Amino acid sequence: MSDVDVAANLKAVTDEIAAAAEQVDRASDAVTLVAVSKTHDADHIRPALDAGHRVFGENRVQEAQGKWPSLKDDFNAVELHLIGPLQTNKADDAVALFDIIETVDRPKLIRALVKAIDKIGRRPGCFIQVNTGEEEQKAGCLPDDTDALVAQAREAGLEVLGLMCIPPLDEEPSLHFALLADLAKRNGLNQLSMGMSGDYETAVTFGATHVRVGTAIFGTRPKPVA
Ligand SMILES: *Cc1c(COP(=O)(O)O)cnc(C)c1O
Repeated sequence: MSDVDVAANLKAVTDEIAAAAEQVDRASDAVTLVAVSKTHDADHIRPALDAGHRVFGENRVQEAQGKWPSLKDDFNAVELHLIGPLQTNKADDAVALFDIIETVDRPKLIRALVKAIDKIGRRPGCFIQVNTGEEEQKAGCLPDDTDALVAQAREAGLEVLGLMCIPPLDEEPSLHFALLADLAKRNGLNQLSMGMSGDYETAVTFGATHVRVGTAIFGTRPKPVA
């Protein structure tokens, strides 16, 4: 048994979100907590479900396929977010399992998702991932390409809900949160997925509608994941 109290951590993070929202006169229920359960096994995730939490994030399709179908059998109304890079050859599997795909970042993936949606008969909502730090190794479209990619995704028939970003580790995240909020606004998008364990309160003050929090809820991950 792990000595991490997942239910207590969930409550603490939820309270912090509410406090941050209040600071900027936002309603606390305007922020969805995506509990990032990557690398954790079903037994470590279950206490969060028992506590009534229903929104989770995973970053690998195959790993999620291993644990979520049976958890979804045991608990109703689970909403699963894909928050890791998606390869086009996994588009069918992703569309079959996930409710929201947060990492749409290139035309080829848009085409693969449209095809998968037709084939599988499910239509997950999507976020366009923006590489706000223009980091070489990081997924996401460049800020300058965001407008075109949003337009393309919409034209192709994806349900584009908002934008997502992962700021560079060694930079002040606020600038990135502000940039993402700007890009969303000018594209008529009102959902922003930004903020992780280290900076979710800041993200909420910059308008995050979704924060993706793993470590602060489930504790340190068993193995490092990129
Ligand atoms: C792992 C991960 C998170 C959660 O990170 P923590 O620092 O553990 O809260 C959030 N977003 C993405 C895209 C991730 O891969």
